[in-house]
Amino acid sequence: MRPLWVRTPTIPSTPMSARAGRPVWLKLENTQPVGSFKQRGMGLSCARAVDAGAERLLTSSGGNAGYAVAWAARALGVPVTVVVPRRTSESMRARIAAEGAEVVVHGEVWDDAHVHAQSLSGALIHPFDHPDCWEGHATLVHEVADDGLRPGLVVVAVGGGGLLAGVAQGMADVGWADVPVLAVETEGTASLGAAVAAGELRTLDAIEGVALTLGARTVCQRALDVALERQMTVRAVTDAQALAAVDTFRVEHRMLVEPSCGAGLAAVEAGTLPGEGPVLVIVCGGAAAR
Ligand SMILES: *Cc1c(COP(=O)(O)O)cnc(C)c1O
Repeated sequence: MRPLWVRTPTIPSTPMSARAGRPVWLKLENTQPVGSFKQRGMGLSCARAVDAGAERLLTSSGGNAGYAVAWAARALGVPVTVVVPRRTSESMRARIAAEGAEVVVHGEVWDDAHVHAQSLSGALIHPFDHPDCWEGHATLVHEVADDGLRPGLVVVAVGGGGLLAGVAQGMADVGWADVPVLAVETEGTASLGAAVAAGELRTLDAIEGVALTLGARTVCQRALDVALERQMTVRAVTDAQALAAVDTFRVEHRMLVEPSCGAGLAAVEAGTLPGEGPVLVIVCGGAAAR
């Protein structure tokens, strides 16, 4: 069996450190074979489903999660159906199909695709709301700790909150429970911010802007719980800030990431940062970048 994800490097960023006035480290999840951290959580979720006897996998994501599930299914040697909404670009559909997945187009946005997937046969792999997913994502924190690094702040982009839940779990595993976390959304996808402000889950009427990968109308309960328990700072950046950060990152580090990832990078430059000492930015990546 092929490994389901790779160990990614953590590199210091001289230009970002200079601007932030404190060391900035980048955990390069964009260097996963499918271009994002999704490879971890989806990989582990798929492996567990197959171990439990699943003969066919199924997921509902037009983005990086669908791509990661397609990749994992191929590695595990099982067929997979990926339901994508119409918003998913042709190039992303093609990447998913190239892994051997059956691609079904249904509905306008992720929520529609997800409802349709629930009516199909196969073990449904949730793109962000499952303990196996969080456990897989947590491994990225284990790697940074293994590298001997201990940050004074961790910066994480938030869509449905699977990454946030996994990072919080990983931080607890390695004894970083007291390290502050900055959770970042764009203004048009700020479902965690709305939930934290209300003290309970909130569903956005619409998803707006360029960071579609962050566009879950409601975050998972686990993400809200960890954000409240750990008293995380939650911030929203503008689309323009996210796009500018993608461009700066491309020029300074010669790698292309999605606007969703740009949101996290932008937050390092926008406003005062919590905590003291090195800032660890999870460079979540994204294969829909163009
Ligand atoms: C999925 C994804 C996110 C958001 O992750 P959640 O687990 O949904 O919060 C952020 N960036 C990229 C590139 C992603 O693929």
